[in-house]
Amino acid sequence: MLGASKKTLSFTMHPEEHTGSYYAATANEVTNFQPLQGEQRADVCVIGAGFTGISTALHLAERGFNVHAVEASKVGWGASGRNGGQVIGGISGEKHIAKKLGRDQEELFGELRWAGHDIIRERVSRYDIQCDLKWGYLDVAIKQRHLRDFQADYEKLQKAGFPHEVRMLSREETRETIGTDAYLGALLNMGNGHLHPLNLCIGEANAAVSQGATVYEQSPVLDIVRGSKPKVITQQGSVSADAIVIAGNAYHSLARELRGIMFPVRSFIIATEPLSDDIVETINPQDLAICDPNFVLKYYRLSADKRLLFGGRINYFGEEPHYIRAKLRKKMSQIYPTLADVRIDYAWGGTIGVPINRAPQFGRITPNIFYCQGYSGHGVNVTHLAGQILADAVAGTIERFDLFAGVKPIIVPGAHVLGKPMVALGILYYQIKDRL
Ligand SMILES: Cc1cc2nc3c(=O)[nH]c(=O)nc-3n(C[C@H](O)[C@H](O)[C@H](O)COP(=O)(O)OP(=O)(O)OC[C@H]3O[C@@H](n4cnc5c(N)ncnc54)[C@H](O)[C@@H]3O)c2cc1C
Repeated sequence: MLGASKKTLSFTMHPEEHTGSYYAATANEVTNFQPLQGEQRADVCVIGAGFTGISTALHLAERGFNVHAVEASKVGWGASGRNGGQVIGGISGEKHIAKKLGRDQEELFGELRWAGHDIIRERVSRYDIQCDLKWGYLDVAIKQRHLRDFQADYEKLQKAGFPHEVRMLSREETRETIGTDAYLGALLNMGNGHLHPLNLCIGEANAAVSQGATVYEQSPVLDIVRGSKPKVITQQGSVSADAIVIAGNAYHSLARELRGIMFPVRSFIIATEPLSDDIVETINPQDLAICDPNFVLKYYRLSADKRLLFGGRINYFGEEPHYIRAKLRKKMSQIYPTLADVRIDYAWGGTIGVPINRAPQFGRITPNIFYCQGYSGHGVNVTHLAGQILADAVAGTIERFDLFAGVKPIIVPGAHVLGKPMVALGILYYQIKDRL
């Protein structure tokens, strides 16, 4: 072991040893990057190979930095390779951030809301990443207040000259569009979309390598030695670098400063068997991603091979596929009774980092150790923006980084010890709020 002999080093692998997901089963490739071995040197060492880490690494490698990304498991093993694949505009916690900074929300976030989309679009095209990227998204309303919120969003987008089709749908139009009477109406937004997240993450990792980055898998980081040339330590090796970026989101506890500022909230997804053309024509002929605005929300879409990928939050911390199947089948059947007996081929879960104020957490632990985490359910888009902002900050352009870092996280003492019961209580609270 290198460099940290006085410490007892350990890494507790999260219980989700294997994702069991539809995405893992349909990945374009099984990555096989070598573990970190020996003493390595880099300009920047990134910890974690999800969207935040890989996006940062790719931005930096494109600018000529020598970047090494160290992943405990596999590229995209965390939330990035397990999520709903919904490419959603906006940044969670916008209201809070604007208020804290005393700035106008529209002026502050107008273009930033879609910046991650542009990065994804550009990368998919430039590196020819096969990840089933499709545009088209429906925010569906369960309550009248949701319709009012959507109408306000619609007007804002119109006023800002949003370049994609956006339209309010009546209850009837919504039923015609997605074959269910479960909603009061919807907001159609052709600027949002969906994709196969694991294939995007793997494609971006390969792109980073093509630009000179090095990726290590099966290399849990056990310790970070702080200093002018900080060092990342794993069981068999180390990387010393001018700067480190921590991108472990809800899956790490590498720095005491990051404890208790974010809750690990579980979300789950099932994938049905491929559906017949008739069913697809009834439930989603336009191939839209669909999401309701509740905190304890439901989100769903078709995969490229026409399975319904149906996700939602349930108050559960396990991995038992039978349990996940049963719970989500019930929720899916409430929306689509005709799918009540459809076969479910995959069921899996993942962990989302949710800050109390919902605002993404950018910061530095020391002048040369950066981090970003806590995107709530908007990570596909915002991690890509975060990667760009982190890369800018490492390269010395810190304005956007400092803007976000200026919003201090709300600390919940003991959250890292009492995480699960606190999350359970929190979900209960929001479930009640959702019903009002
Ligand atoms: C079920 C589910 C559904 C979701 N649906 C959506 C959605 O539809 N749209 C959307 O926008 N967002 C969604 N999200 C949120 C989104 O997936 C996340 O916000 C985003 O992927 C976070 O990316 P990340 O790279 O920061 O973290 P992660 O993807 O979790 O990556 C962190 C990585 O760090 C690694 N790591 C941790 N500790 C160490 C260590 N000590 N050493 C080395 N590596 C380490 C982990 O192994 C992991 O690979 C969903 C999340 C889940 C779980």
